[in-house]
Amino acid sequence: MFYSLSEEGDFELKIGFVHLSSCSGCQVSFLDMFEDAVEILDTVKLVYSNMLTRNREIPKMDVAFVEGALCIEDHHHLNLLKQLKEKARAIVTVGACSSFGGIRRLSCGNQLPQPHEQSFIPLTELEFLRSKIKYAIPGCPPNPSLLYSFLLALLESNEDFLLPFEYMANSARVSGLDILSEVVNKGFCTGCGTCSTACPTRAITYDKRCNKPTLNLSLCVFCGACLAACPQTFKTYPQPTY
Ligand code: SF4
Ligand code: SF4
Ligand code: SF4
Repeated sequence: MFYSLSEEGDFELKIGFVHLSSCSGCQVSFLDMFEDAVEILDTVKLVYSNMLTRNREIPKMDVAFVEGALCIEDHHHLNLLKQLKEKARAIVTVGACSSFGGIRRLSCGNQLPQPHEQSFIPLTELEFLRSKIKYAIPGCPPNPSLLYSFLLALLESNEDFLLPFEYMANSARVSGLDILSEVVNKGFCTGCGTCSTACPTRAITYDKRCNKPTLNLSLCVFCGACLAACPQTFKTYPQPTY
């Protein structure tokens, strides 16, 4: 659905990777993904990356993957996003910082080596980009295999696979509290323990006494990995008919 035609008339997916305020962990994960992605390199073309390509301006692309939150004092990054709005057909936020704020939500700013950077906002909360952001990939960082599966789903237009990522792009925040309110408290939890193994900070632990997850909110970095990993997350009750 996001394809363009190459000069030879073949279908190809032009992608870019844009780095904003972040630790670069998502970018490392994204680059690791290409170890698995050899078989699709004929179809996927990386046209922009601050690490791998030389272009200073953002070129036209089908899908832009973006890591990191926007520091609202950083005019260079704001300018990058303005270009991206014009040049990218769709934007995918990669990781917690870009999608929900992540550890940037916990930053008090004014830190070395960038003391002027004080306030951060995730891309999903930028009104001027809202119409471009199609999917949010949770994690801190997302696993390279998840990124590869996501890319395959984009190539195959696998809407069933992409639906949770679309849902997450429209969630202003996700945290361990959502696992409790959306899964456990609604009675959907099967006690499989997947959420606790997905959590990078051990904010969620598996309680053997009740076969359910428990949460230490003070350790949660709002990465959304637990929600993405839980097989019961996106279920709804069947509605009664009258
Ligand atoms: S989501 Fe985590 S790994 Fe990715 S840039 Fe932010 S802090 Fe780093
Ligand atoms: S509980 Fe863990 S996995 Fe879930 S959002 Fe918080 S840090 Fe991420
Ligand atoms: S992953 Fe979902 S179903 Fe499994 S224990 Fe966690 S909340 Fe329950």
